[in-house]
Amino acid sequence: MKSRFYDNGLQFECTGCGECCKYSDAVVYVTDEEISSIARYLTSPEEDFVLNYITAFRGKLVLKSKVDACIFLEDDRCIVYSARPKQCRTFPFWPDILKSRVRWSQVSESCEGMDQGKQYTAEEIREILNESKTVNGLDQTN
Ligand code: SF4
Ligand code: SF4
Repeated sequence: MKSRFYDNGLQFECTGCGECCKYSDAVVYVTDEEISSIARYLTSPEEDFVLNYITAFRGKLVLKSKVDACIFLEDDRCIVYSARPKQCRTFPFWPDILKSRVRWSQVSESCEGMDQGKQYTAEEIREILNESKTVNGLDQTN
């Protein structure tokens, strides 16, 4: 197997600071199952939920956003954290971020959870990375 900079593992523990949820040019992709799951979490009828929170981007379903943040970020907190989409759950173990130590370090400048807290083994990282690769459209996000 090709050696990677994370072969000895990486540290990451989300502090919930909300920085990665503040964006104006990114998108969060969602599946039908995730839409149902978040709607249930918010005890919202699914039809209303879709009208209020979902839109399309390049033919794919994504969360709506406010001017400069995800629509679910309130007071710097994700209000659907337990039901957040796979794209959010797999951050920062995304293909684009794991492509090099340099890229990891660049992203860590805006994410205080990277390089601190929980230690992930290379195997655990690969599992999450593979999961992130199933997010429809994630490669176009970054
Ligand atoms: S920027 Fe990092 S620490 Fe902050 S909420 Fe996002 S993943 Fe968590
Ligand atoms: S769903 Fe939650 S974790 Fe994901 S971008 Fe929106 S506020 Fe952040």
